[in-house]
Amino acid sequence: MKYRSILLFGAPGAGKGTQGKVLGVIPNFYHCACGDVFRNLRPDSPLGKVFIKYSSRGLLVPDETTIELWKQNIENTMQVGRFHPDHDTLVLDGIPRNVQQAKMLRNTLDVVAVFYLKSSDEKKLVARIQRRAIKENRLDDANLNVICERLKVYEKETMPVLKFYGPKLVHQINADQSPAKVLADILHHAVKK
Ligand code: ADP
Repeated sequence: MKYRSILLFGAPGAGKGTQGKVLGVIPNFYHCACGDVFRNLRPDSPLGKVFIKYSSRGLLVPDETTIELWKQNIENTMQVGRFHPDHDTLVLDGIPRNVQQAKMLRNTLDVVAVFYLKSSDEKKLVARIQRRAIKENRLDDANLNVICERLKVYEKETMPVLKFYGPKLVHQINADQSPAKVLADILHHAVKK
């Protein structure tokens, strides 16, 4: 059985996590942020070390490791009764993050919509990320060089995912608006799906 899913897509700092958290409290939506799955690993565990090695340089964790960990995590949430694939829609944030991951998840996800949170202002993104560094104690958010590397990786590796899913599934949302307005725009499309 494939999991019915909507994808939150956008640059680091575009607001995927903010929207995902709000959507995730609506009954029948289950939010899963791939970055949170990684951050929940113990930093001294083998996988936790791999995560720190890549994220601290602004790079993506290798695909096999990412997909395996993500699948394990989602199966655990099913087992403990937090995610019910027969009546919940997954709200994914931060995965798939490149075309290879999208291909690897082809038999796992039934993607019904992709919400592309598009910000026109890179300076604003960087400012949001730096604010988050302090609030959430994120190493990868604190250093400007690392932030720039993540934005580059996003352009080069993540942007092609939009083409993979194609224009019929992709809804462009203006991410420069207030969080409430962004949410309203997402819901406008999501409830029709
Ligand atoms: P942001 O919200 O800024 O985009 P995330 O919290 O989603 O950041 O991810 C933080 C870091 O975790 C990434 O820079 C990357 O190293 C790693 N990561 C998260 N998701 C993935 C993924 N799908 N594939 C590979 N690495 C990932």
